[in-house]
Amino acid sequence: MPNFYPIATINHAALRHNLAVIKKIVPHSQIWGVVKADAYGHGAAEVAASLAVPGLAVARLGEAKKLRCTEKLKPILILGGVYSTADIIEAAALNCELAIHTPAQAEMLWQIELATPIKIWLKVNTGMNRLGLTLDQAASWLVKLTNCANVQSPPGLMTHLANADVLTDNITNVQCQRLRAIPGAANCALSIGNSAGILGWENARSDWVRPGIMLYGISPFSGTIGEQYGLQPVMTLRSSLIAIHHCQAGDAIGYGGSYVCPQAMTVGVIGIGYGDGYPRHAPVGTPVLLHGQRVPLIGRVSMDMITVDLSGVSTAQIGTEAVLWGEGLPAEEIAAAAGTIAYQLVTGIAGRVQREFIAACRLS
Ligand SMILES: *Cc1c(COP(=O)(O)O)cnc(C)c1O
Repeated sequence: MPNFYPIATINHAALRHNLAVIKKIVPHSQIWGVVKADAYGHGAAEVAASLAVPGLAVARLGEAKKLRCTEKLKPILILGGVYSTADIIEAAALNCELAIHTPAQAEMLWQIELATPIKIWLKVNTGMNRLGLTLDQAASWLVKLTNCANVQSPPGLMTHLANADVLTDNITNVQCQRLRAIPGAANCALSIGNSAGILGWENARSDWVRPGIMLYGISPFSGTIGEQYGLQPVMTLRSSLIAIHHCQAGDAIGYGGSYVCPQAMTVGVIGIGYGDGYPRHAPVGTPVLLHGQRVPLIGRVSMDMITVDLSGVSTAQIGTEAVLWGEGLPAEEIAAAAGTIAYQLVTGIAGRVQREFIAACRLS
């Protein structure tokens, strides 16, 4: 029985392979497996259980809370930190580590009284100008919090790279140097590299690195795919043909009738749409894989369906499986066609899409 509804297959053998690729590049670094946004749509609990890493990283306290239900022991780093003393206490009770990116957060830690000291990372703005303490604030809070009973000493120092995916932009080296030059940095654990930093910049291969997208087999560099770096796609999104029509030249397809058949053609309808996370802006010509063959999207993407030109595939029938991205059809390519990045595609898989796991570990 074919699967008539969208299903995202999450291949944990590929996930573990990608982690091994990372470990080869940074054999001397410790790894935070970044599992924010439900592990970029791959299922945070399952991904965490499969990854042999010393720590996991999420963006927010709520994500840490949820992950702690299944991941009992590993440190969880909250990349965005928390914003109240109550939340510091909750994070400490959950055995979380905190990024501290504003003076107000640092001040709260200084004032609070914790039963046991918490591990923290001073997040420094070295050039991204989004989150982070200034270099001067970082230097002075480093001294202050190194001698604070609430904090495990010494704090770590971290920074986030703004443009590491552009290999010609020297701002990445400048950012790394700025972090390393903070007075006292030599005595602290440093955390710099995201996926692009790990792959592209020697300087970013710090004591701790924070790979996200490359764990999932996707390249952080535009115009390339994960396979070029030895990575394997972890998510494959599939659905199947739910209807087939024989249209005449001049027939208009779908909403708005924006696509008009230039000649007689066989049109296939696939059960996936933007309500599942397929990008609505995917233009005519975006490839879909049927029986290993690429067919072009035609007409507009609707909520539950897309239409494709089946003229080239004589074997297609109702129930034939279609791959939207993943094995055999890189998500990077679909993202580029739709004017976005693969991060957004995998993260945007909707709740109604069934997820199936291959070679996953049992949840504790
Ligand atoms: C999301 C995130 C990462 C992971 O980035 P990738 O590009 O997915 O590797 C690392 N560090 C921070 C602070 C992040 O927010």
